[in-house]
Amino acid sequence: METILTINNLTKHYGAVKAVNDLSFTIEKGNVYGILGPNGSGKSTTLGMVLNVVNPTRGNFHWFDGKNSTHDALKKVGAIIERPNFYPYMTAKQNLALVCKIKDVPTDRIEEKLDVVGLLERKDSKFSTFSLGMKQRLAIASALLNNPEILILDEPTNGLDPQGIHQIREIIKKIAQDGTTILLASHLLDEVEKVCSHVVILRKGVKLYSGRVDAMNASQGFFELKCEQTQLLVDYLNNHNDFGEVKVEGDLITGYLVSPLAAHALNSELHSKDIALTHLVKRKESLEEQFLQLTNNLN
Ligand code: ADP
Ligand code: MG
Repeated sequence: METILTINNLTKHYGAVKAVNDLSFTIEKGNVYGILGPNGSGKSTTLGMVLNVVNPTRGNFHWFDGKNSTHDALKKVGAIIERPNFYPYMTAKQNLALVCKIKDVPTDRIEEKLDVVGLLERKDSKFSTFSLGMKQRLAIASALLNNPEILILDEPTNGLDPQGIHQIREIIKKIAQDGTTILLASHLLDEVEKVCSHVVILRKGVKLYSGRVDAMNASQGFFELKCEQTQLLVDYLNNHNDFGEVKVEGDLITGYLVSPLAAHALNSELHSKDIALTHLVKRKESLEEQFLQLTNNLN
């Protein structure tokens, strides 16, 4: 696997505000990553740091194999982290030609990129005549002009109507299918589920989860258990069809469910095996629910 971005213990404090706290994750080529979290959870700050516009307080990151400077590596990155801003009186094509000049890339790929975002027919329309969705699509075309290895998008569907949202998501999927790695920040679980293969969930700058999106949804919850005969219990759980991974930390045993099992059912089962629990808590680890709770009470 080819690594695109490696982040180690990245931290950003603004005075007393810990915008991003000890964040580590890696981005592998070909996947679509979502950074998911409610407003103020540190998504934009994280993107700002890896794009060299925000200075980390602590920690580090490197692009690709880490052999080039961040400045050089960023030439292989396409990013939209602000509202699309182009010259209103210039056409889509003229605006992109200007971007080509600034980025020092050939102009002969402009039409191909306009086609990717569904704006080829509007190439000669002035930017000022575009809807917000079209402006956002033009920004994506612009970010693709340097044929980036990775495309970074911050809340790409914010403020768009349902049709505009759908178009942007389809475009992102198409770009990913063509082999471009994607990193997008979003506060919408539904967006990440629809578009992303992998997710990093942030809350108040702290990583709550990272991994595959499908693994996140498959969660049946888990039990936290303690008893005097730890090994007996661990062996029992390891042979139990309803349990997957079983973790032991000191005297605390955490058993992750792979199929539904009620707390009272487990309790009476163990009792009949003469395993007496001193502690039993079932937690519903459904990150979907957790995340919805987080987003319902913003901040
Ligand atoms: P998100 O993109 O997830 O909404 P941000 O990264 O924008 O979150 O913000 C994370 C936290 O850092 C918030 O509490 C925000 O108020 C704070 N923050 C972001 N940028 C600045 C800044 N330039 N100065 C002070 N605080 C900031
Ligand atoms: Mg943001």
